[in-house]
Amino acid sequence: MKIEVVEDLAQILDSYEITVTNGIFSIAKNESKNVEGIGLQETYTDKDIADDDEVFPEGKKLTELHKRKERNSKAVRKKKKKVLQESGKLECEVCGFDFVRTYGEELGYGFAECHHTFPVSKLTEEQKTKLSDLAIVCANCHRMLHKLQPVTRTIYSISELQAVVQKMLNK
Ligand SMILES: [Zn+2]
Ligand SMILES: [Zn+2]
Repeated sequence: MKIEVVEDLAQILDSYEITVTNGIFSIAKNESKNVEGIGLQETYTDKDIADDDEVFPEGKKLTELHKRKERNSKAVRKKKKKVLQESGKLECEVCGFDFVRTYGEELGYGFAECHHTFPVSKLTEEQKTKLSDLAIVCANCHRMLHKLQPVTRTIYSISELQAVVQKMLNK
């Protein structure tokens, strides 16, 4: 019972190329095959790292669901319309950034992102997005809201990030 040896042998043989030319055996170490194998693995790792969208501790599926809810243009459109009607502007709820103030009426009017504030762990596919679950945010704050805190591996709430920005302003 030397199964391990057999497996090893198969693996070793696999890294050699055996060719028969005119009845002559030639065995060559299949270097290119090895290199290619390692190369592929590196590609996968790179891809994982390149994906810099942070994943909620609850998992990738919920992150996808969260983003889908934020892309749900109907709810987002309604939210923006409501805020615009009420305040006449779309100010970031975290830092106060207003796209109109910086980019002008023509480019910036009606522009903002929406962040879904409903607890991620309670999100379900069927659930309708409530306007009160959406927060108006600028692009920078939105990225920061999706970034996991280094120590706790949780994401900031709107008010937590607000406190961070406030603290930096008062420095
Ligand atoms: Zn902001
Ligand atoms: Zn978000």
